Amino acid sequence: MKRLGLKILVLAVMLLAGSLASADKINFPDIPGYKTLKCDFHMHTVFSDGAVWPTVRVDEAVREGLDAISITDHIEYQPKKADIPTNHNRPYEIAKEPAAKAGLVLIKGAEITRDTPPGHFNALFLNDCALLDTKEFLDAMKAANDQGAFVFWNHPDWKPDKKGWFEVHDTLYNHKLFQGIEVCNGGGYHLNGHIWGLEKNLTLMANSDIHAPSLIRKTTPEEHRTLTLVFAKEKSVEAIKEALFAGRTAVWFKNQLIAKPDYAEALFKAAVRIESAERRGQMVRVEIANKCDLNIDLARTGDLGPEKLIVPAMDTTIIRVRVARDVDTVELAYNAVNILIGPEKPLPIRLTASVE
Ligand SMILES: [Zn+2]
Ligand SMILES: [Zn+2]
Repeated sequence: MKRLGLKILVLAVMLLAGSLASADKINFPDIPGYKTLKCDFHMHTVFSDGAVWPTVRVDEAVREGLDAISITDHIEYQPKKADIPTNHNRPYEIAKEPAAKAGLVLIKGAEITRDTPPGHFNALFLNDCALLDTKEFLDAMKAANDQGAFVFWNHPDWKPDKKGWFEVHDTLYNHKLFQGIEVCNGGGYHLNGHIWGLEKNLTLMANSDIHAPSLIRKTTPEEHRTLTLVFAKEKSVEAIKEALFAGRTAVWFKNQLIAKPDYAEALFKAAVRIESAERRGQMVRVEIANKCDLNIDLARTGDLGPEKLIVPAMDTTIIRVRVARDVDTVELAYNAVNILIGPEKPLPIRLTASVE
């Protein structure tokens, strides 16, 4: 009896600890005028070829510290339909209440799924996903746009033998039937998504496209979900929609950020600064702080500071630089090697401070 009592006590303590365990926090600071929201706009459930029930996607997103998700089951592909009848709006309906309770923004979406070309396209902010169930591909794209959806091209480099911008993509682009493109999908970087996203001024997206349960136990700079950071006026469906149409995003993929120059720079400036620069004899001791979840990899372009420098995520680093006695500022010029403003194109940065 005594041992049983002890076992029950241990179990109770474990359950309590489990329920108190807080969700992960993903650290990317807000930029001037906008909140930085951590979003995943591409994932699947048992309503298409995913392995989990819609509420599990909500639980995972909350546990990993996300602000918004969209469940985007395939319209044309339901391998489990013998067990789960086709109902394109059900995943959203099922997840809606738990998402609202947890403060997670849930966006109604679906994946238009055709052979390459044209390939796969996600439509977000739908009213009725079932209207996308059409025979002709272009009719599905129009049905999405007629509902005011934000539509993006998924994993454009998915089929190695069929990579390319085909005639159908010109038709879509010329009629403004899609507005975004995935640069990263799960563990994959899609070079064409990056090139076309910049060339054609599409919104840069990155998402998990998760099918299995998420096994991420703790989000770290090394292990995290592939995400779109959205710079939105507030945390709401409407504000995210406005931001996506306006192209205000950054991509968090492995230990890299990928964004258009303005947003890459705004995010860097919000995250990294010189905390202090103190004169110690001939040298100046410079403390650099990084308030985001990227280990920032810097390569010197100016005259001052070490050739290579890593500013660890959510931490500070100290360097010592030689500055003449009559100079009262330090200016560090570097390339942020893992903040990309184009394919293999690092963001040039400058950090300045007055010497105390
Ligand atoms: Zn797909
Ligand atoms: Zn997918």
